[in-house]
Amino acid sequence: MKVYVNGRLVAEQNAKISVFDHGLLYGDGVFEGIRVYHGKVFTLKRHIDRLYRSAKAIALTISMTPEEMAAAVVKTCKANKLKNGYVRLIVTRGVGTLGLNPYQCKESQVIIIAAGIQLYPVELYKEGLSIVTVGTMRNHPEAINPRIKSLNYLNNVLAKIEALNSGVMECVMLNPQGYVAEASGDNIFVVRGKTLITPPVWCGALEGITREVVMELAPELGYEVKEDVLTRYDLYTADEVFLTGTAAEIIGVGVIDRRPIGEGKPGPVTLQLAERFREFTRQEGVPIQ
Ligand code: PMP
Repeated sequence: MKVYVNGRLVAEQNAKISVFDHGLLYGDGVFEGIRVYHGKVFTLKRHIDRLYRSAKAIALTISMTPEEMAAAVVKTCKANKLKNGYVRLIVTRGVGTLGLNPYQCKESQVIIIAAGIQLYPVELYKEGLSIVTVGTMRNHPEAINPRIKSLNYLNNVLAKIEALNSGVMECVMLNPQGYVAEASGDNIFVVRGKTLITPPVWCGALEGITREVVMELAPELGYEVKEDVLTRYDLYTADEVFLTGTAAEIIGVGVIDRRPIGEGKPGPVTLQLAERFREFTRQEGVPIQ
């Protein structure tokens, strides 16, 4: 595997960064997870735009233009002959001192890894995911705003630990007001009749790109989409609940806190959206050539 490190494609074993990089020392940096489907980089511009918004939000100057960054992603996929897979794009604050001061870091570091994808087991897409609500809250927007896709994912890791220790793979995180925010690595939707409801990002959700695509595709299929505040009541009483994310795509939730949701397995709306999404992955994307 060839890894892109600051403009150079190097062998995996030579892809190394300094121990003084603030990405490592403080989780000071931003990242994206991007899918490659059928030899095309899916929703690339949206990911690049979000990366630069995240960077702006933490006052991190990226030493490349968005166009150069997009080209670097495509180049890395090409070097690895990637047809279907997952790209991890990372921008760190760079090498600095042992102190917090980000202004001591001279230049951001850009790393691009084009790899395979680890998905949920296929049967879960038919049977549905079991999840739990956890005690670890989503960050307050005036702490680390959850809209920032930063390298500091400890909050999500702590939530994931709670989920795994409860015997499930994912969880619902609430925000400090007790409203539903999202899962530890995915956005969440509720289906009620012909309406899809997802928390607004101010409730503590990442502006997920899969979420965005679902919100665009759903009206074509006759569904109304709303952003609204949700509580656990709304989850427990929903017809269907599903999660969205680059890695997970669209996955139905069968059980929350040991309570069956709807029929206790992915419902027809979730399955229809998942099918439409899969079709869209064939249509959309920047060719790797
Ligand atoms: N929320 C969080 C916390 C995430 O890390 C992710 C990405 N894995 C998502 C939501 C989904 O976003 P996207 O659809 O852009 O992958």
